[in-house]
Amino acid sequence: MSTTPRIEVRHLGVTLGEGRSRVDAVKSVSFKVAPGESFGLVGESGSGKSTILRALCGLAPVSAGEVLIDGAPLTGRRDKSFAARVQMVFQDPYGSLHPRHTIDRILAEPLSIHGLKDRDRRILQALADVGLDPAFRFRLPHQLSGGQRQRIAIARALILEPSILLLDEPTSALDASIQAEVLNLLTRLRAERGLTYLFVSHDLAVVDHMCERLLVMRAGEAVETLDEGRLARRDVRSDYARTLMVASDGFVRPGEGVAGR
Ligand code: ADP
Ligand code: MG
Repeated sequence: MSTTPRIEVRHLGVTLGEGRSRVDAVKSVSFKVAPGESFGLVGESGSGKSTILRALCGLAPVSAGEVLIDGAPLTGRRDKSFAARVQMVFQDPYGSLHPRHTIDRILAEPLSIHGLKDRDRRILQALADVGLDPAFRFRLPHQLSGGQRQRIAIARALILEPSILLLDEPTSALDASIQAEVLNLLTRLRAERGLTYLFVSHDLAVVDHMCERLLVMRAGEAVETLDEGRLARRDVRSDYARTLMVASDGFVRPGEGVAGR
């Protein structure tokens, strides 16, 4: 990679909990994500994927190693300029949207925190960007379907025009057909805006569809990195990645074997 990585994670370690519940959730994980790239983190539940995203955002401690954004190390609390560059989308669009706030208020909040003018125009544009009618503006989250709520979560993440989206199982709570629509929306938005994605899923088929490269995680450790060529050839080296492949419907196509070691 000749250009400065948009995201660089160097030997990241994250220790969570206290006393007997203390756990090394992430153990010396390293990877780089180029500008405009979509990079996946895949692994079974509890492998440390969300903890990596949380550590990037300052929601979990960086116990060891470091994280660099555009070559600059992140230190201490994430400030306003970080929020304008890096935004996160969570799995559960209902839990992440305040139930008693209208969509208008949900989308306006980041604008007021960052002192941005042009509120009406930006909110209408954000709705249009995610394919929602302006009429959604004065509804409440419970009046929306799961897919529409996740579109709002994406609109809120994009309203400050960040360059990086951290996506934590953004479609895992949705039905398959709705999942495909939201994934297509994310693909289009990345192409239009040159966004960089760090995309987390337990489903290898989804990550394969959304990402050029991916890191397989297990029990807090990096197991192997798969680039585009190895992904296309289904050339996985570890038994663990092979197990994930078999568990992901649609990753191994009919008539296509699992590549040998
Ligand atoms: P994933 O997103 O891959 O499912 P997580 O990053 O959520 O995995 O969790 C990684 C590990 O950290 C798991 O063992 C989990 O139980 C543990 N963990 C997550 N959050 C906490 C916490 N707040 N306190 C203690 N342990 C935690
Ligand atoms: Mg998780």
